[in-house]
Amino acid sequence: MPIHGNKMKKVFCYSLIFGILQLIPIRALGWGFKAHRQLNYAAVFTLPPELFKFYKPHINYITEKAVNADKRRYAFADEACRHFLDADHYEKKVPIDTIPNAWNNAVLKYSEDTLLAYGIVPWHLQRVQYQLTKAFAEKNLYLILKLSADLGHYAADLHVPLHSTENYNGQLTEQEGIHSLWESRLYELFEPNYDFFTGRASYLPNVSETIWERFAQSFAALDSVLIFEKLAGLKHPNKYSLQSNGRTNVKVYNEAFCIYYNHLLNGMIERRARASINLIGSLWYTAWVDAGQPDLSNLKEEPLKTENNDETLIQTLFQNSRIIGRKED
Ligand SMILES: [Zn+2]
Repeated sequence: MPIHGNKMKKVFCYSLIFGILQLIPIRALGWGFKAHRQLNYAAVFTLPPELFKFYKPHINYITEKAVNADKRRYAFADEACRHFLDADHYEKKVPIDTIPNAWNNAVLKYSEDTLLAYGIVPWHLQRVQYQLTKAFAEKNLYLILKLSADLGHYAADLHVPLHSTENYNGQLTEQEGIHSLWESRLYELFEPNYDFFTGRASYLPNVSETIWERFAQSFAALDSVLIFEKLAGLKHPNKYSLQSNGRTNVKVYNEAFCIYYNHLLNGMIERRARASINLIGSLWYTAWVDAGQPDLSNLKEEPLKTENNDETLIQTLFQNSRIIGRKED
């Protein structure tokens, strides 16, 4: 079907934004856009029937808005730190036993400025979980959908080992580029073989504890992510090749190197993706249960306010066209 008028403009705007997002070197976006969308989408299918029937009609929104949290990093200064926590600023290896799990205790110990400087993803995820629970209790359709999409994003970022370190792009160990290698290049090469059926979401009696366990797993996997990339580089010293993107040739990690690195990682990326999916579904389900399992069958379809927000965001993106806050490289 031909695309006309406003729709065409919108498509053009989004193409421009995605073009910009790909060109700008940025600090740790988390999973690539494709992965974030797929993880939120798959999480809907983990839900028990009583909640699945609410989410299913909104699955396109939940999928598309999975990347909004990353887009906001171009517009708002306080967004960037919500996607990571440089745990190795505080301690060198697991167990994570010096960083307080409770936000107030962490502020007392390190100061809020320090926490914001080195990232807050486990705490922020808990905050969004609280907000989602409240939105369910208030039966606010717009907020339920918006916060569900955001929650999925932060929960997925929590599972990325390179989001737990100051060496987030291998820049301290001569491994620059490892961030997008792990989260985008390998994911996109091997995702067609991933099994996204993770089993049913479950109620989480202690959300904070679960979130910190998942984050600790990411931190524990960091050594392997870095060491195996070095080993793969020894086996395939010529690890790059040129690939055409339609206009010019760009340097990418070649397939032989990626296959060997992925072999050494032994399914890690798929495991972290699957764990993300199940946690996202479980957090949504837990928020709904904690809100008293409200009946969502008659929520009013108000026009989604996000459309206006998106227009503002797009304008800001064009004006700034760079991430505000910490940068990569
Ligand atoms: Zn992110």
